[in-house]
Amino acid sequence: MRIVLLGPPGAGKGTQAQRLAALIGARHIPVGEIVRSEIAAGTPLGNQIREYNDQGELVPDDLIVQLLLPIVVNERSWVLDGFPRTCGQADALDAILTETRTALDAVVALDIPDDLVIARLSGRLQSQATGRIYHTLDNPPPADDPGPFVRRADDTPEHIARRLEVYHAESEPLEAYYAERGLLRQIDATGSIDAVTAAIISALQPPASNTPARKDATGDQTAQKRASDEVT
Ligand code: ADP
Ligand code: ADP
Repeated sequence: MRIVLLGPPGAGKGTQAQRLAALIGARHIPVGEIVRSEIAAGTPLGNQIREYNDQGELVPDDLIVQLLLPIVVNERSWVLDGFPRTCGQADALDAILTETRTALDAVVALDIPDDLVIARLSGRLQSQATGRIYHTLDNPPPADDPGPFVRRADDTPEHIARRLEVYHAESEPLEAYYAERGLLRQIDATGSIDAVTAAIISALQPPASNTPARKDATGDQTAQKRASDEVT
């Protein structure tokens, strides 16, 4: 399956993409992490995009497409986490898919108000050992993850405010873009991590089996397993 996850910074895209990719056997493509490793590697492209990332701004469309193109075309099944973020990027993705004679299966938008985003980003931690995402209060690291656990340099109040502004101006219009194409699945992302996963799995069911799966969207593992079996 080829799935795009949309949502503001802190909506839970990375958290859900890691789970969804494992459940459906797809590759998780974490675009922000790819950007950060390119910068850390000091490649010519990394040096070009560093300043945008440091300021909480979007990397220009042509550069982000250049970075992602090889990954997107080389994988058959993926969960794209953080791309597209502008309508220009969505057009570029469309062109890539048309050229490779493939298509998106669904676009999942995680809906969440700004105040909750701020609370989530203010406590976000990521394990350097496993890449798993945690939260100081809501989702503390388990004993079996050795860490270390780091805060992101762009999770400061000023950067969060700017990233939210950029999201509303540049990325939110993507919901209408994909709704027009019949691909959009809107998910209430304010519930627990398990509840959001269950709602996503349920929304990915083909229409005929949607009703019973939605009734099960309580976050329990059995419902998630059953739903993921149907998705794959
Ligand atoms: P978050 O987890 O907060 O949604 P990401 O880790 O996905 O943020 O992205 C962090 C930063 O990486 C962005 O602020 C931007 O500088 C850059 N970036 C990520 N995805 C894109 C994209 N599709 N287009 C342009 N810039 C991007
Ligand atoms: P994004 O990739 O959209 O920026 P993340 O997946 O990194 O978002 O999640 C941001 C923060 O919110 C992390 O600290 C994560 O543990 C926490 N989080 C994610 N989903 C939920 C949820 N449903 N309930 C509570 N906290 C969550």
